[in-house]
Amino acid sequence: MPSASRARLLEGGPIAEEIRRAVAEDVATFTARRGRPPGLRVVIVGRDAPSAVYLERILRGCAKVGIDAGFVELQGEATEASVTAAVQALNDDPAVDGVIVQMPLPPTIRLRSIIDAIDPDKDIDGIHPLNAGLLRLGYDGFLPATAHAAIEILRRSGIEIAGRDAVVIGRSAVVGMPAAFMLVKEDATVTVCHSRTTDLAAHVARADIVVVAAGRPGLVTGAMLKPGAVVVDVGINVVDGHIVGDVDFVSAVEVASAITPVPGGVGPLTNAILLTHLIRAAERQAPFHQSSAAPSATPAQPVPSGGDR
Ligand code: NAD
Repeated sequence: MPSASRARLLEGGPIAEEIRRAVAEDVATFTARRGRPPGLRVVIVGRDAPSAVYLERILRGCAKVGIDAGFVELQGEATEASVTAAVQALNDDPAVDGVIVQMPLPPTIRLRSIIDAIDPDKDIDGIHPLNAGLLRLGYDGFLPATAHAAIEILRRSGIEIAGRDAVVIGRSAVVGMPAAFMLVKEDATVTVCHSRTTDLAAHVARADIVVVAAGRPGLVTGAMLKPGAVVVDVGINVVDGHIVGDVDFVSAVEVASAITPVPGGVGPLTNAILLTHLIRAAERQAPFHQSSAAPSATPAQPVPSGGDR
């Protein structure tokens, strides 16, 4: 029987809708002033079912708000040189403001050489080393969209971050580490756990905020949580044909004070956040626009600390 203290659900859908409405306004303003819509291109190397779904979602989301989105498809046997050339052609195209390279790439292609080829000003998913470095230093670069969505859902849900103990499970360059840096920037005290952490339960038990991005269904259970903890489940796993997160939702929802559902939590927000990054990239690349105020859809970026505080 559900207890009276069942966690509040942090749903991404309504927040994503709010962001998309603001993006649509920014797109209309940009298009009117610039004479063209903001442009996004996705580079895909080979196509499997998940990447086709992801691509279709992005294209549909962009079309709804008036963004000119398209993709450049290279066949599965594409070389590092051909992928790099495709990225560079998009870098040089003035009608393209944002470039995403669909991951994973075939194992024959070195990820680093492709990432390095993306113009940092068009790197709206924050994977270029320059943007990763800006985040590390506390400055405003492009953030990886999933990590940004994980933190944005806390901010927009009014969850207090400053001064709280946060545990991030996962240390990947695209989710775990950027989420940890963002939480530090928001003045949380952050512990990063990973596959070699010896006592995960002990760390989780102390956390006021738990961000889970491990790709391991059921990794975090209600019994591990501090009562009243806030849980952000970034995991996406398919178990018995169903999409589940990394958190055992049924037990966690009875102990946490707030929790993101999977599906319906971080996922829906990620694409909306990506659109805000595209608007920002477009604004930054439109010279006569540089003195204008930040676009309304841009989520608040904390002021760079410029050092220790
Ligand atoms: P990844 O495989 O690159 O990294 C997983 C991380 O989890 C690693 O750092 C690893 O050390 C850690 N880990 C693995 N097993 C662990 C364990 N038993 N205990 C503690 N740590 C452990 O994955 P990723 O790209 O960072 O993605 C993480 C999850 O987020 C996946 O489920 C992925 O599908 C999901 N994801 C969601 C979105 C979204 O929009 N919601 C987007 C991207 C990825």
